[in-house]
Formats: sequence, structure tokens, C-alpha cells
Amino acid sequence: MLQVHTESHKAERIGWLRAAVLGANDGTISVASLVVGVAASGASQHGILLTGVAGLVAGAMSMAAGEYVSVQSQADTENADLEREKRELERQPEHELAELTSIYVGRGLDQPLAQLVAEKLMAGDALGAHARDELGITETLRARPIQAALASAVSFVAGAIVPIVTVLLAPAAWVTEISSATALVTLAILGATAAYAGGAPVAKGALRVAFWGALAMGLTAGVGKLFGTSV
Ligand SMILES: [Zn+2]
Repeated sequence: MLQVHTESHKAERIGWLRAAVLGANDGTISVASLVVGVAASGASQHGILLTGVAGLVAGAMSMAAGEYVSVQSQADTENADLEREKRELERQPEHELAELTSIYVGRGLDQPLAQLVAEKLMAGDALGAHARDELGITETLRARPIQAALASAVSFVAGAIVPIVTVLLAPAAWVTEISSATALVTLAILGATAAYAGGAPVAKGALRVAFWGALAMGLTAGVGKLFGTSV
């Protein structure tokens, strides 16, 4: 009995951890690529820092906006389903009782017990019982657009802070090298964490994310060099 309860909490935690790590990934890759690209163009440390901070704010806002819109549409769908369910419960309670009973029979209860459970639960909270067992909507898993938007913005900022701090601390002549090196280490750690959380091979997870980060920074450094020489 205790085992089932612990498992469900672990699954929720893993969900959140993976979302946070992916958000931080985005932050590190996009801001480090901006920083490395602008640094490669020969821009001043002030210019590089400004670019990094602008990238952080723009990226965090776009992550928050994207997450808010997608989770809000999920919340809208959930609310519409609940409204329809409420109407059906008012209009045809017997049919709804039969529906809930058949769901419990499908889960292995014999008919009389299933009917009894359905009756008891509908007497207590009919909409709650149907939402949970028919629609799969539970209070803990309800779509929360604001929290989701905030969580993804915060995780983006957490990842983007690394290249920005690097620009602040690195000697001007070594900004490109040091910020790409710290970004790669950060990405490898994030990749390993996401792999570990998902039960996947850690080394592979680390290498995969670091590879894409290196590719992105390599491309932006190339563009930066190109623009640097032509400006
Ligand atoms: Zn129903």
C-alpha cells in the first residue's frame, strides 16, 4: 500500500525536474550562444554583457509566454469538460451513475460493489468522482498556467545566468573560450541530471546535450567572426 503512494509522488517530482532541467538547458544554450557569437565579433565586454542580459530577459519572457498559452489552453479544455460533465450530471444522473459503475467494473470490481462505490462517491461529490475517474482530472494535476509560466521562466533564467556570470568574471581576452567551456560543463551536468531523472544512461544524456550546445555555439561563433570582420 505504501509503495503505490510513494511511486506517484516520485513520478510527479521527476516530471517537474525534467521540465526545470529542459528550461535551464534552453537558457544556457541560447544565452551562451549569443555571448559566444557577439564575443567572436570582437564586441566590447559591455556589449557582450548587454547582449547576454537582453537574451536572458527575451528568452525568459518567451518561455513564460509560450508555457502560459499552452497550459492555459489545456486549462480551458479541462474547464469545458467539467462544465459539460456538470450539465450531464444534472440532466441524466442515472446514465452518469451507470457510466461510473461501468468504469469501476472495468477496473475489476464486481457489478454490485461497483454500483455501491459509484453511488457513495456520487452522493459525496458527483462532479469530483466523474472528473477523477472518467475525465482523469485531479486537483493535484490541474493545469496551472501562471505556475507553469513562472516555473519555465525561472528555470530559463537559472540556465542563462551561467554564461552571464562568466562574462562578468572572465578576463576580456578569454571571454569566448571561458564562456563556451563553462556552458559546455553546465550543459553536460544538466543533460546528466535529466537522464538520471528519467532513468536513462547518464553519460549518453550528458554527451547529447553538450554536443548540441557545442554545435550551437560553434555556429554563432562562426557568424560572429563573419560579422566581426565585415563590420
Ligand atoms: Zn460522466
